[in-house]
Amino acid sequence: MSEQEVDLSAEKYEKHREAGEILAQVREEAADRVDVGVSHLEIAEFAEDKIRELGGKPAFPVNISVDEEAAHATPSIDDETTFGEEMINLDIGVQVDGWLADTAITVDLSGHDDLAEASAEALDAALEVVGPGVETGDIGAEIESVIEGYGYNPVVNLSGHGLAHYEQHTEPNIPNRAVSQGVELQVGDVVAIEPFATDGSGKVGEGAEEEIFALEREASVRDRSARQALDQITEEFRTLPFATRWLDVSRPEMALCRLKMQNVVHGYPVLKEEDGFLVSQKEHSVIVTEDGCEVFTR
Ligand code: MN
Ligand code: MN
Repeated sequence: MSEQEVDLSAEKYEKHREAGEILAQVREEAADRVDVGVSHLEIAEFAEDKIRELGGKPAFPVNISVDEEAAHATPSIDDETTFGEEMINLDIGVQVDGWLADTAITVDLSGHDDLAEASAEALDAALEVVGPGVETGDIGAEIESVIEGYGYNPVVNLSGHGLAHYEQHTEPNIPNRAVSQGVELQVGDVVAIEPFATDGSGKVGEGAEEEIFALEREASVRDRSARQALDQITEEFRTLPFATRWLDVSRPEMALCRLKMQNVVHGYPVLKEEDGFLVSQKEHSVIVTEDGCEVFTR
């Protein structure tokens, strides 16, 4: 074995694979349950409970994005929202000892199958070209060309990313369009690739709602409930995102508000297509191998 050679049977890769295996099952079972009249909270809790039952932990709250929403939406504590004839993106993550798997799928109840197909086919095309020495910009070009072939636009200000220990978004950035300054992938890189397609112009902006948060810095906090929340965050979620409804404290919204004001946690505003057009998404996580890639969330 040469010095540069990466051992893809190392423990961390095995844990990524274990997370991916749990995630593939949970994604399919959760997607099957999405239907008109079913509640968002029921789907989120089904998926998160199933992940734990199968021996993993949610790496972030189940994202349930509807129609123009692209990411960072998750049910609130007593959420009673139900699905209508909408385009629904489920984005789910699992961690095993901090090693992550990240996947997403569109369930279309709105009658726009081809928009859902555009991001799915773009992902398949991207996975075909992934390999050592391939530039991330070339992957983006592949995604853009497939989505444009359907007559839609990729969402250009959302992208794929590397997956590191307890870190959901690291280098390299995997763009959803052709860019000239990419980086070359290497054997052993663990990345999530996630094309988004829209019938709008291709940009998302921040909405007002926030239900997902993450630790920004450790600090001492005086308020009792805020302190209890912070203890749970640092022990259980560390630097990974969490939902308001995951906090085991009385009045979690108040506790979070205090932690936010002191910049101890930061929120993830819901991202929406700027002009209210539909967004579809498909995502898999892969390990770059000598001759291409191993998709470990299939
Ligand atoms: Mn994801
Ligand atoms: Mn992702």
